[in-house]
Order: sequence, then C-alpha cells, then structure tokens
Amino acid sequence: MNQAALKDRTRSRITTRVPLDEDGKHCGFLSLPYSTHESAYGRIQIPFVCIRNGNGPTALLVAGNHGDEYEGQIALGRLIRELEPHQIDGRVLILPALNLPAVAAARRTSPLDGGNLNRLFPGDADGEPTAMIAHYVESELLPMADLAIDLHSGGSSLVYLPCAIVRDNGSDDFVRRQFAALKAFGGEFAYVTDGRNQGAERTFGAAADRCGVVAITTELGGGASIDRDGTRLAEAGIRRVLHQAGILKEAPPADPDALRLMKVEGALSYILASETGVFEPALELGDEVTVGAFAGQISFPETPWREPVPVHAEATGLVICKRAVAWTGRGDCLFQILAPYDGRGRLS
Ligand SMILES: [Zn+2]
Repeated sequence: MNQAALKDRTRSRITTRVPLDEDGKHCGFLSLPYSTHESAYGRIQIPFVCIRNGNGPTALLVAGNHGDEYEGQIALGRLIRELEPHQIDGRVLILPALNLPAVAAARRTSPLDGGNLNRLFPGDADGEPTAMIAHYVESELLPMADLAIDLHSGGSSLVYLPCAIVRDNGSDDFVRRQFAALKAFGGEFAYVTDGRNQGAERTFGAAADRCGVVAITTELGGGASIDRDGTRLAEAGIRRVLHQAGILKEAPPADPDALRLMKVEGALSYILASETGVFEPALELGDEVTVGAFAGQISFPETPWREPVPVHAEATGLVICKRAVAWTGRGDCLFQILAPYDGRGRLS
C-alpha cells in the first residue's frame, strides 16, 4: 500500500451534510457507510445537530453511547427542540443517539458488531461500525470542542443514584476546570475516578483527556428505564455547564453546597457476585456501609435446600449503584460503593 493510501486509512469515512460553520440550527446526520446484503450502498444515519451563533466556544453533548441508557437521550432531544441560536454565543454539537444501532436495538452494545462504544476509543477509521463511530468522535468531534458531556445511566444491568463524574488524570489546572464544570452541572452526588477500573483508556472520558477537552460524564438512573430526577438533572445540568462556559446566556441556578463529592476507591469499590444464582440485596441506593457489612445473599433455585451465600461490603462509603436484575452470574457487579473525596485542595 502506498503512503497516500495508508494516510487515507486514518481519515474517517463518516461524512455529514450538517454545516458546522454556519449560524443557525441545523439538524441532520452523521452518515456511516455500512454495506450489507439488504443494502449494498447503505449508510447508518446517526442524528447530529449543530446550533451555532458566532465564534464562541464549542460544546459537544452526547448520549446513547450505550443504547439502553435513556435519561440523556431524552434530555438532549428536548434540548435540540428548545435551544435556539439567539440563546447562545458559540456552538453546541448534539448527538443524542451516538451509537445509533445500539439505541435502536435498546441494547448497551451494537447488534451489528457487538461493539461497546465506551470501550472502543480511540476507534478505527476503517473498522466495524462501532469502532468507526469512536474514531470519528476522537479524530473529528472532540478536537473541535472546548468542553464535552457524555450522558450515561446504569443500563439494563445496573441502577444509579443520579450523579456526575470526572476523571482525575490531568494537570491541576485541567482538573480544576473539570471540577468547575462538575459543580456547575450540580445535583446531589458526584465522583472522581482515574478510570482504571472501568474502561481505562478506551472510554469517551479518556478520549476527551487525550484531546485536552474538559469533560464530564454522568450516571443518571438505569434499569433500562427512565429516572425522572435523573432526566431533570441532565436538563438543568447541561444548561448550567453551557452557561458557565460562556455559551448559554441564561441558565437555572445550581446549589453548589448541595453537591457531595466522592471517589472510587479502587477495585474494592465494586462488590462482585461470588456465585451464580438469585441475588437478594440487603442494601439500597444511598445507604452508608462499612467494610464487612452484610450486603445481601445469593440463593440457588436449582438446589433450594442449599444455604444462600452471603455477600459483604469490601469498602466503606455510600451505595451509589446496585444491580438492577435478580439473576446474577459469578463476577457480576452487585453494588458500587464510593468513598469520601479527600480533595488534595483541588475542589476550591
Ligand atoms: Zn453507559
């Protein structure tokens, strides 16, 4: 392969007719070539909206990174319908169904290639559809952005208390800007992670780090359902972050004193099932636990005379997340527990 052809392999094959440098509200698609038996020259049409007014900063807002997480999809759809160019200075890029095949299938991962988008960054220009989406985000969209928000929830298997998240991987100045965005987003709970336990360098947050873009992600509910508080937090929080960035002229106020900041305390933050069976939880979201606390038990319907196996907490802190379904396999996450954030003076 000659050099020009090699270079071309690093350029995205996704195209769009949405104009990114014209003022106004422009609704259209990212167009991803996907050739199948049913559609030889077919393209996956991922909804893409650009709202622009002048040369201010750019925000990138995405949901549907995982297809079965809905609060963000709803909040961004509403924002598209409500936000008008005269309300902003700058540019807002909105993708409420980023992994569209997964969204349309109501699944975490893509039915086309099994791809988990939030484990595929930096992606592949010439790969399967999910890797192509990741590559477009990291090579085209994030480099245009000054800030980014990636809206998640617990999906089909987990349910979360609504919260926002940042990765603490950058310089003090970068992390201070991330915390400022976190405080602007607001809500009752937020946490800091180094990303090592979930997705490491393969997530949207890691991609934003690599591009030097201040990014927050969220967990807004879960159980493949819709948490009304989570949806409300997403709608208000996005507007507050846009306002703080100088893009949105007006936004609802936040109560920064209400925000409780926590952190992931390594792998022990995640209570995993030791057996396969039916999990009966003994904790609820928002409970405070200490190491060794009884967290529930796993029963065995195929041998109901066998004593259930107890599950215990391995970390002290707040229950932010729990498994949404009773049937459980060994190694499934049953709870996530967050420790208080020690701060190191960064949240000031
Ligand atoms: Zn997710």
